[in-house]
Amino acid sequence: MSNPSRITQAIQQGLRRLVGDHTPVTTPYRLFDLQLKQRITLSPSLSRLVFTGPDVADMNSLAPDQRVKLFFPAPDGSLPVLPDGTHWKAAHSALPPQQRPPMRTYTIRALRPEAMEVDVDFVLHGVNGPASAWATAARVGDPLQMLAPNQAHAGDPGGYEWKPPQGARNVLLAGDETALPAIAGILEQLADEQPDLAVEAFIEVPLEADCVALHHSPATRVHWLPRDTLQCDHGQAMQHAVRELANLPRGQAAPGARLEDVDVDKRILWDRSSTTRSEFYAWVAGESAAVMDIRRHLIKERGLQRECLTLMGYWRVGRTFD
Ligand SMILES: Cc1cc2nc3c(=O)[nH]c(=O)nc-3n(C[C@H](O)[C@H](O)[C@H](O)COP(=O)(O)OP(=O)(O)OC[C@H]3O[C@@H](n4cnc5c(N)ncnc54)[C@H](O)[C@@H]3O)c2cc1C
Repeated sequence: MSNPSRITQAIQQGLRRLVGDHTPVTTPYRLFDLQLKQRITLSPSLSRLVFTGPDVADMNSLAPDQRVKLFFPAPDGSLPVLPDGTHWKAAHSALPPQQRPPMRTYTIRALRPEAMEVDVDFVLHGVNGPASAWATAARVGDPLQMLAPNQAHAGDPGGYEWKPPQGARNVLLAGDETALPAIAGILEQLADEQPDLAVEAFIEVPLEADCVALHHSPATRVHWLPRDTLQCDHGQAMQHAVRELANLPRGQAAPGARLEDVDVDKRILWDRSSTTRSEFYAWVAGESAAVMDIRRHLIKERGLQRECLTLMGYWRVGRTFD
């Protein structure tokens, strides 16, 4: 039998459309129309883009790795003007491909609702993708749409994975430049809220000049892994660091435990930790094959429990995931 509350909801939505009721949307995520307000060069490979918009005061961010979707100008140059509310997805797929704004996932680096500002740190990896190409050329005043958590929504909107379990005493953070915005935010939060927590952060970046100053507690050890000085390819340095340098606990599962690989060329690697209590917690994000290698190492070779590991493929060399 159908759920009566869903039927009521559908009838109410239909009625609102009929009578033209424009009460504010309370979906977990909603669309925000933004304009670029300022560009700040953080390092040769990373730029902070500060956006503003009339509704930014109604945006929410619940964790330092809060993800959002950004919509960029379509292949024919038309600007993203999707309608807000629950129908943006249908409107997006109904557009002809040439007019459909490409969508990519980014992290809210900082949100200042009172100033109506939201920051996103972009890796400038070239003009081979719509996001990086747009961020490279964008000028103050350029418009963009962002699908982001809605403050009017009463529940938890989700869209974040940084959930250190209770009792955590030892945290491993590992990531590449695309995870640097989240890692920087996590370190800032820990410095304020849990300054005694032992944290090791391994951060792979393209260039030595990308090793920027981060705010962190004295109990945190930050290890920068610049690919230019280490002379390695994407992901190699973070794999090596987790294997050889990280201070990992003794595993409890038998090493060699069964673990199905994820085909990172076909689907996104996304393992969420599921424990609420553990002394060890790892948060790892970056190029998918590198994260896949780290996953194998932590679980199969070191026998660590999957429940205390969050492992995310943020992007894949040579592939595009929309
Ligand atoms: C939850 C989440 C949060 C993220 N947060 C951020 C963030 O805050 N800042 C950020 O910069 N990125 C972030 N990313 C990564 C970002 O979504 C990808 O890098 C995305 O592919 C960029 O889109 P694009 O249009 O530039 O390139 P695409 O069109 O997706 O790809 C075009 C080509 O560029 C390559 N490519 C994509 N990204 C990179 C890269 N970083 N370096 C080198 N080559 C690349 C692809 O392999 C492909 O060959 C995040 C991803 C996820 C899943």
